Amino acid sequence: MRIAMIVHGGAWAIPDDQVEAHLAGCRAALAAGWAVLESGGSARDACEVAVRLLEDDPTFDAGTGSHLTAAGSVELDAAMMDGQSLRYGAVASLRRVRNPIVLAHRLLHGPATFLVGEGAERYAAAQGMALCENSELVVERERALWEQWRASQTATAASGLQHTLGGRDTVGAIALDQSGNLVAANSTGGTPLKLPGRVGDTPLIGCGLYADAQIGAAVCTGWGEAIVRVALARRVVDLLERGLAPQSAAEAAVRILNRRVAGGTGGCIVLTPDGRPGLAWNTRRMAYAYRSGAGEPVVGV
Ligand code: ASP
Repeated sequence: MRIAMIVHGGAWAIPDDQVEAHLAGCRAALAAGWAVLESGGSARDACEVAVRLLEDDPTFDAGTGSHLTAAGSVELDAAMMDGQSLRYGAVASLRRVRNPIVLAHRLLHGPATFLVGEGAERYAAAQGMALCENSELVVERERALWEQWRASQTATAASGLQHTLGGRDTVGAIALDQSGNLVAANSTGGTPLKLPGRVGDTPLIGCGLYADAQIGAAVCTGWGEAIVRVALARRVVDLLERGLAPQSAAEAAVRILNRRVAGGTGGCIVLTPDGRPGLAWNTRRMAYAYRSGAGEPVVGV
């Protein structure tokens, strides 16, 4: 059975001087996930390994290096969906879990589907996962941006800074394993200077991700408040179900995002049960990497 994998590292105006770091991160995540698939491992494990690597890479807005909330701390969201069983696990507003994707993966088997905040952290600790200090997730780059915003202290400056930051470095992955299972996963620190407690599309089923091993899977990134309104990931899968090729489905869904929600910006990655990838974005750039069957890895922005 053909294996395949696609990952992304966010859709926004990635500045020229950050392109290489994004490419390197996506390349490494793809290679790590691919090694799992190649040795007969599950798509779930491949996605976890790839997303964990991106969470640990401070380049991206996920895990360590995430954007700060308006209150100056990190709050993390993540999810995983299994396309064979349609099981789904999600977490949101985590402040003390270094790798939220690990917890989302565990929740595929219950006892709850979606855990948030302190309850989620208590569950993680009870499962033997080490909790960290919130400050351990904060990098100097993000602290400096937050300080700059706080020093300005006006609403206009805040929205101007949000615009400059773009804040679209969420990460995601889809893997197809040797047994034919298709799994989608993602992780984010959300938008820069978000309200504490704000949750975007990323951990929401049908919005940030969807996987059906009989039809295909999609993972989205971009402005969460817009993506939620069109349930973008499920849109992509609906388009696949109607017979569109993965590239056409990705492009059509991103067009819908922009047409139906004013200023709806973002992108998505897609993978079909026979290992065909698709990817589209309407931002300046989206970082990605994919590989399918006997093909070589493809990495780009
Ligand atoms: N979609 C994410 C959110 O709104 C941000 C991103 O994709 O970078 O939380």
